[in-house]
Amino acid sequence: MSTKSTMMDFPLTLPHMLERIGLYFPTIDVVSRLPDKTLHRTNYLTIQRRAKKLASALTQAGIKKGDCVATLMWNHYAHLECYMGIPCTGAVLHTLNLRLLPDDISYIVNHAEDQILILDDVLLPLYEQIKDKTSFKKVIVVPLCGAEISDEFINYEDFLETGSSEFEYPEIDENDALGMCYTSGTTGRPKGVVYSHRSTVLHSMAEALGSALAINQCDVVTPVVPMFHANAWGLPYTAVMAGAKLVFPGPHLDAESLMDLYEQEQVTLSAGVPTIWMTIKQALEAEPTRWKTAPNMRMAVGGAAIPESLFRVFDSFDMKIIQAWGMTETSPLASIGILKSGMSDLSEDEQYKIRVKQGVPLPFVEVRIMDDEGSLQSWDGEAQGEIQVRGPWITGAYHKEGSQLDKFTSDGWLRTGDVATIDPEGFIKLTDRTKDLVKSGGEWISSVDLENAIMDHPDVIEAAVIAVAHPKWDERPLAVIVVKEGKSVSKTDVHSFLKGKFHKTWLPDDVETLSEIPKTSTGKFLKKELRKIYEGWIWK
Ligand code: ADP
Repeated sequence: MSTKSTMMDFPLTLPHMLERIGLYFPTIDVVSRLPDKTLHRTNYLTIQRRAKKLASALTQAGIKKGDCVATLMWNHYAHLECYMGIPCTGAVLHTLNLRLLPDDISYIVNHAEDQILILDDVLLPLYEQIKDKTSFKKVIVVPLCGAEISDEFINYEDFLETGSSEFEYPEIDENDALGMCYTSGTTGRPKGVVYSHRSTVLHSMAEALGSALAINQCDVVTPVVPMFHANAWGLPYTAVMAGAKLVFPGPHLDAESLMDLYEQEQVTLSAGVPTIWMTIKQALEAEPTRWKTAPNMRMAVGGAAIPESLFRVFDSFDMKIIQAWGMTETSPLASIGILKSGMSDLSEDEQYKIRVKQGVPLPFVEVRIMDDEGSLQSWDGEAQGEIQVRGPWITGAYHKEGSQLDKFTSDGWLRTGDVATIDPEGFIKLTDRTKDLVKSGGEWISSVDLENAIMDHPDVIEAAVIAVAHPKWDERPLAVIVVKEGKSVSKTDVHSFLKGKFHKTWLPDDVETLSEIPKTSTGKFLKKELRKIYEGWIWK
């Protein structure tokens, strides 16, 4: 006899999550800092009703299953309503990255065939720059500033009034598309990744696990990472699923505004790229007793490597960095740096050596590392290779482009373009992106390791290491640094600071000081731009 499962075939879809916040967490706050810096307060019941009104209004406006509805917004309550309401109509939430160039935004809008745009009033000047190259059926404006909205647009509040909070959800298959994000296009044109209801629900459950970000109903969650970048790392969905309070920073991402918000709302978990935390670190060091944050506040940090000094400084302020690794293509959370049992017995220094690694994959994310020749590398903490991943929230293709083999392997794994080692405990340690490695005399030098070590220097604020052509060695590392005001750091200083930490063939051949390192739209070092600046560099 072949025994069959007796379990129900119950779909993993968003309407369940939207209903749940109304049923179980109606009074939980959702706080948003508005452009004028005032705080807007609402709760999950109101969010639920308004998200359903939005879903109903969109359906009446002709939005059908699979249509894309774009948002151009900061992190706030109305964006959360879009996160929930748009997919509950069966349509696809397409978050546009407002930091991209207008040309890239219009390319993405046209590529995705977005039907309707919902945007913040404060972003109307940006819309003006894409208007002639796009053709939305409707443009809906969220009145965050309370100013009049011209007749050319539909006021978001009026639009909601055309819908009903009694909205009946259409039938949604768990594999239907829910949302779409484009990669930032650090190489070539941006590529679209389309998440499903199932992948989003599973990602939320995994993200909330105790061995991941441990998000529960008592948490107060602040995604600093923008909702237009990899779904703010899935945090809005995870917080909704858990019934945790959400606090959104709106457009105010400077250290002082964020610290004020953390203190005022007693935020227990925040998330963002290292550049955000670097500025907060400086603010804390300048005024160590000014803010009183929630005890043992957690900060999920990812998107770029984190220097060890950042972990140490935040620990001294009772703010704990948890490292996360992933990419738009992986929803994005793929691995997390949490110490395993027994590791807390290690010395403090040894623990930091583990915490700077990118951690262990979440359940159902499988990883392997492979060299240039396609040979699997062993997990000995030494052998390097490209990380390849697969799992239920890892994309298997790009929107309209399929699964070309340079991004996917013939046996169905995603090629991440990240180079890493994996140690016998299964901890991934990123050494570089394939395109950023310094290939010197047949050896691979990790720009990330050098950057992190240089950023530990007390007078260095930022450091980026790039490969520059060299007549003898093919490429050699050039370090570009930003130093604290009134300080100067020479090549000799850097070399003596790094002495003993690296073999001498790894030390940067030159050190250049800039007032700022160019950054990508998501706050990472823009090495492409640096490479352009130092093209044709003559070694001293
Ligand atoms: P892009 O930077 O190309 O826009 P994503 O925003 O999706 O794309 O970023 C994904 C990349 O960010 C990863 O492939 C990896 O190189 C880098 N990254 C993410 N998390 C970490 C981390 N914890 N440490 C180092 N690098 C990271």
